[in-house]
Amino acid sequence: MRNLILILLILFACQPKKDNGKEHIRTVSGETPASEMGMSLIHEHVLVDFIGADSTGYHRWNRAEVVARVMPFLEAAKARGVKTIVECTPAYLGRDPLLLKELSEKSGIQFLTNTGYYGAVGEKYLPKIVEEATSDELAAIWIGEAKDGIENTGIKPGFIKISVNEGSTLNALDEKLVRAAALTHQATGLLIVSHTGPWATAKAQIEILQSMNVDLGHFVWVHAQNEKDFASYDTAHDLGVWISLDGIAWDVPGHLERLRYCKEKGFLDRVLVSHDAGWYRPGEPDGGDFKGYTALFDELIPQLKSAGFTESDIDLLLVKNPRVAFSLE
Ligand SMILES: [Zn+2]
Repeated sequence: MRNLILILLILFACQPKKDNGKEHIRTVSGETPASEMGMSLIHEHVLVDFIGADSTGYHRWNRAEVVARVMPFLEAAKARGVKTIVECTPAYLGRDPLLLKELSEKSGIQFLTNTGYYGAVGEKYLPKIVEEATSDELAAIWIGEAKDGIENTGIKPGFIKISVNEGSTLNALDEKLVRAAALTHQATGLLIVSHTGPWATAKAQIEILQSMNVDLGHFVWVHAQNEKDFASYDTAHDLGVWISLDGIAWDVPGHLERLRYCKEKGFLDRVLVSHDAGWYRPGEPDGGDFKGYTALFDELIPQLKSAGFTESDIDLLLVKNPRVAFSLE
């Protein structure tokens, strides 16, 4: 009898930890079990303000007008089964946690927002402090947002979003951002999502992360569709990096081709997909031209199915991988 109890205890202790309910995602409405993330778009935008870090601010848009403009696009995504949207607009480019919270309440879609800074495009979107600050000081700001919430909203980021300039070497500011992201990840567990493009630029960041002992399963190579040499996907997969093919709104055939390559090679388990669509543009009439979040469902998925993708492949790309990538312990 004692042996039986012992065996039962051992069996219980050896149950996989993944589904014990402790894994969660951090949405703008608080923590939710990761099992409820559901079908997710991992790289979209609701609003982007390109005016520059020195001029942007909440005064640049009217939340009620943005909500009215964006809601039909969210409803269209929801009608296609979308449960969660990862909003990738960083601070100083139009990040607005309260707007996302309102949109979430009105649409029923869960939103994740981010902490971090955007170094690409010649530092136009970086606050002045980045020049003088050390990586530790930047990380302290981002960790502060993760622990206490963004500004005084109480809304916490669900991931880290940074961006670097393209090239095979990083400039000093970009290197500082990558180091700050690594420190923030180590303190908070948040996933590092980095606007990157070519593999050479991903590799330069990966070398820094490796030197800081960051597990590369917590790094997302954003805009990986901009890499022309598909063999780079093999290298990224071998390293355990997330390959983000996230420009579907702009190029369906290019994504089809890359996804077919990843399926043939057997590494869809490290691939994330999204549209990089949206977004309300402050200063333009009615927020300007808005790209919806539906090409994946209406165009790409039917083509993937014709190419032999199964329901379980689609589920992996849209449900399982986002959950594994964005889950926190
Ligand atoms: Zn984007």
